[in-house]
Amino acid sequence: MIDETTAVADTVAPDRAAQTERRRAACYDLLTGLPNRLLFREQLGLMLRLARRNGSALAVMLADVDDFRRIRHTLGHDCSEEFLHAVARRLESCLRSSDIVAHSTALERASGLARLYGNEFAVLLNQLAQPGDAELVAQRLRAAMGTPVRLDGVEIFPALSIGVALFPGDGDDADTLLQNADIALGLAKERGKDQVQFYRDHMNRLAASRLELEASLRHALDGDEFVLAYQPRVDVRNGQLLGTEALLRWQHPTLGLLAPGGFIEVAEQTRLIVPIGQRVLQMACSQNLSWQRAGLPPMPVGVNVSALQVGRPDFAQVVREALAQTGLEPRWLELEVTESMLMHDTAAALRSISAIKALGVRVAIDDFGTGFSSLTQLRDFPFDVVKIDRSFVARLPEDRRTAAITEAVIRLGGALGMEVVAEGVETPAQAASLLAQGCHLAQGYLYARPGAPEAVEAMLRAPALAA
Ligand code: C2E
Ligand code: MG
Ligand code: MG
Repeated sequence: MIDETTAVADTVAPDRAAQTERRRAACYDLLTGLPNRLLFREQLGLMLRLARRNGSALAVMLADVDDFRRIRHTLGHDCSEEFLHAVARRLESCLRSSDIVAHSTALERASGLARLYGNEFAVLLNQLAQPGDAELVAQRLRAAMGTPVRLDGVEIFPALSIGVALFPGDGDDADTLLQNADIALGLAKERGKDQVQFYRDHMNRLAASRLELEASLRHALDGDEFVLAYQPRVDVRNGQLLGTEALLRWQHPTLGLLAPGGFIEVAEQTRLIVPIGQRVLQMACSQNLSWQRAGLPPMPVGVNVSALQVGRPDFAQVVREALAQTGLEPRWLELEVTESMLMHDTAAALRSISAIKALGVRVAIDDFGTGFSSLTQLRDFPFDVVKIDRSFVARLPEDRRTAAITEAVIRLGGALGMEVVAEGVETPAQAASLLAQGCHLAQGYLYARPGAPEAVEAMLRAPALAA
């Protein structure tokens, strides 16, 4: 008789080995043995979740070996691979000996260094006591290149350009942090290589010269550099797409795609947010109508509006014109306002919002819970939708106090006849917990990131998203 256990064990063991081998090949860089981009991004996501929960800071650094093309030309293919290997070992030993990361756990230390592409490495620093620590580590990495690498009788002096993005502050998610570290890296290269640049400094420099930024914003408006990303709103129960939110992006000619965090404040200070907001309204309405014309099921598009727009007496007129010019029915437009913007001049805001409601446009209260969370506002303003801020969702399901608050807001919204949408849902556990509390509308990376209109279209044409 065949011994089934042995037979199974015999087939399982090589399977497991093959699986481990496949994971290694998928997640690690063959040349250096370091994690690759895929694994680095995954670990960064994990560390961000921990950092958010613990309220700690972290840094993402991108380190690029300067003049690598020239080095490769000098050394030839095989030797330049050996050279990169040597650089990787130096970076690794430098991070190991660094007292700043010495308190990290084994996992954290293992996730510290990765090779993303050819000559580009990434470093993740967890639990930063202060942003200055990131500078210290970056300078050490540069200093570790201080002696030449000798290969085949040739001496090469490696140098590094390093770009740094910090959490919180420079981005909230792995992709934004990587993108901003990359912008900072670009700046380090532009300024003569062999140096460290922080993304923050860069944005501050931009903001410091407000006139310059104002001019670029004006130019962006004239040159159609503003684009919209759309993030789906889904039914948690079945993954069905029930709406989208339009999110502003600036396709900057040299800095790449910028999220609103970097420029909206200046747009408000200079009041350029008024014409920009008008453009956003037009673009979002016209996009929504083209989805409908393409035969996709009609759904509302959410548009964020600034207090400066809502406060203007002609605001309802501007909204009416955007609808008339594009031909979108008012019920497919939803304006998102935040609590704080209603506080300055409550009477004027109420007039403005009532006028918009009279057009048949829906109104949502955004980021609920982060401002004054005023019950009077919920009572007095005719909101159709209340959006629970993602800082609450991020603490679900573990944090009982947060869960008590979200549950109460969900009930309250329901009792007031409002739809309740949870923002920033990133994990199945968060979705399950919201559903158990009676909230079945959500937005978040779990379902989809903000993306180009084509991505939404593809989703709408697909039968349903994974629930
Ligand atoms: P918001 O209206 O609360 O938009 C949601 C923000 O959360 C977006 O960031 C979105 O990308 C991000 N997000 C969505 N799902 C997740 C998730 O699962 N995890 C995490 N960590 N983040 C998620 P974004 O696009 O950077 O926008 C930031 C804010 O900028 C918006 O917050 C809104 O207040 C403002 N904004 C965006 N577009 C416009 C606009 O056209 N006009 C005005 N006045 N403000 C805008
Ligand atoms: Mg919003
Ligand atoms: Mg929000």
